[in-house]
Order: sequence, then structure tokens, then C-alpha cells
Amino acid sequence: MRVVSGIQPTGNPHLGNYLGAIKRWAEMQHQTECFIFLADLHAITVYNDPKELAATIREASATLIACGIDPDKAVLFNQARVPAHPELAWILNCTARIGWLNRMTQFKEKSGKNREGSSVGLYAYPILQAADVLLYQATHVPVGEDQKQHIELIRDIATKFNTDYAVELFTLPEPLIGETGARIMSLRDGSAKMSKSDPSDMSRINLTDDSDTVAQKIRKAKTDPEPLPGDWDALGERPEARNLVTIFAVISGRTPADVLKEFEGQGFGTFKPALADLVVETLRPIKARLDQLLADPAEIDRILVTGSERAAATARPTLDGAYKALGLPRY
Ligand code: ATP
Ligand code: MG
Repeated sequence: MRVVSGIQPTGNPHLGNYLGAIKRWAEMQHQTECFIFLADLHAITVYNDPKELAATIREASATLIACGIDPDKAVLFNQARVPAHPELAWILNCTARIGWLNRMTQFKEKSGKNREGSSVGLYAYPILQAADVLLYQATHVPVGEDQKQHIELIRDIATKFNTDYAVELFTLPEPLIGETGARIMSLRDGSAKMSKSDPSDMSRINLTDDSDTVAQKIRKAKTDPEPLPGDWDALGERPEARNLVTIFAVISGRTPADVLKEFEGQGFGTFKPALADLVVETLRPIKARLDQLLADPAEIDRILVTGSERAAATARPTLDGAYKALGLPRY
């Protein structure tokens, strides 16, 4: 078993990233070999200020470490330091079909009405993602629900390449999606996922938010006037309420049913402060560790350079294999 997963370094890492992905990576690093990367080449699919990007990558890396990723256990690196990623991505651009990419719902959501004005990179980003995963012969990719379609695409690309060139080069990866917490929703809109790129900061809880901000965001989170029912199915038509109960459950390591048993018959006037306390206590040690780490940026760079060297060494045989399969002279 080998795990690969990543996070874009731009925007504020939020509770959705933590519960859907980062927390699970931190758990998995003790059980299996994990490659965790900052997807900085994905970040440039939209404009990012070059003066800020290096610092943003460092901050996102520090956030992962503060959340429990141990660079001595997991291989922690950034894509831009491993040129095999864009190299293999080009090759896979020639394998993936336009019709496959046209079906990707995330591009439709992210480009919105500005489809023609979006970068080709934003459109093709699932192919770079295929390279990210296939280079390492990953067997499992722990992600949030929103990435499921992209992992299926990776499997299609790997299968087509292996078949077209009659090789057994790429391992077909399985998505690992958590049972609860895989899709944390916006605090303002129960039908949209919590996202770094949501223009409203009130829609998400950033891992760096202070206690007052967390309490305020939860207090203002959209809900309904009904009290909480005693069982999960009764929350069917109440997405915002489901979301808050889900967050409570995942953070406290309980089932949503168990949480509802405790709060049955109570309104959000009681539930929200309890949730706020829980989130604040979860974020407190993460924030403290983050502040410590950010005091020594050079150390973070050293960690990323070392991780990138380890990643590049693992990626190289796969990339060589792809050139060989294609009949392209390389050395
Ligand atoms: P962006 O809006 O810029 O795409 P994002 O919030 O989707 O940002 P990513 O860096 O794209 O964050 O994703 C990092 C990881 O977090 C992925 O595994 C993704 O599936 C997971 N993730 C993102 N949003 C959520 C969410 N709301 N709930 C659970 N997991 C999530
Ligand atoms: Mg995303």
C-alpha cells in the first residue's frame, strides 16, 4: 500500500481540508508509506502574486506539520521541486481524451460563467493530478468527496496508457473517502462545499482563525429554527443542520447518531456554543505549533528540499518507464 495526496497551497486551509484530508493523512502515515505534497503547480492555474507564493507554500507546509504530518514519517514536498510532475503530465495530456475532461464537474464549478476566459491549466489540472498520483505507483488516494471524479479519471488514463502501449506501467489507484467528514459544507450555504476559494471568509473556519472568530462564524452559520431530532434520518431536508452535526461528530470521534442522542430536542442556541468550544479546542494546539514553525522559515524550506529529493528518486523510474513505453530516446 502506498498513499499519495496533496493540497493546494493557496487560500486558507480550513476545517473541511482538515477533516476530509489532512487529519486522515496524519493517521495513515503511521500505517503506511505516504507522499504528501503542496500542489503549487496547481495553484498557478489561476493568477497568484509571485511575490507571495513562496511564503504561501511555506505556510501551507507548516500547517500540514502543525496538523500532525511528520516529515520524518511521510515524504512531504512541493510539486515545483519535482519536475517529473509536469513532465509526466504532458505525456498524459496525450493519453487523456477531451471528452473525459469535459465531464469534470469541478471545472464547470470553478470556471462558472467565465469558461472561455479560464486558463487551459485549470481545465487540464486533473491530468497533472493524474501525474501526481501515477508517478509514485500509489495504491490509495485519501481525498474529500469532491475529488472522487478526478480519481476515477486517473484510473481511466492509467488504463488507457497501459493498454495503448502494452505495458504494466501504472498502478490503478483507489480513492479513500471517509465515511463522515468527506464533504464539509459551507457555513453560509448547505449546498456548496467549504472551499479555500470561496470569496466569503464567513463560509469557512480557517485553521488559523482565533477563538472569537470561530465562535462568531459558528454563531452566524446558517441554520433553521427547528430543534435537533434524535436520529440522523430526520435531518434529511436540513443540510445546514446536518453539516454542523457532522463537524461535531468527526471532531469528537463520535457518530452523528451519538451526537444527536445527546442534543435531541435542543435548539442551535445550545448546540452552536458547544460546537464552537469543540472547534476552538481542536484548533488551539494546531495554531500554537504553527506559530512555532513559522518562526523558522529556513527549516521549512530544508524539509521541503529533502522531501522533494526523496520524491524525485521514487518518481524517476516511472517517468523513465513512460518515455521507454512511448519509444522516446531519453539518455
Ligand atoms: P479550492 O477551493 O482552492 O479548490 P479546496 O478547499 O477545495 O480549495 P484543495 O486544496 O483543492 O482545497 O483540496 C485539498 C484536500 O481537501 C482534497 O483532498 C479535497 O478533497 C479536500 N477537501 C476540500 N474541501 C473539502 C470539504 N469541504 N470537505 C472535505 N474535504 C475537502
Ligand atoms: Mg479543491
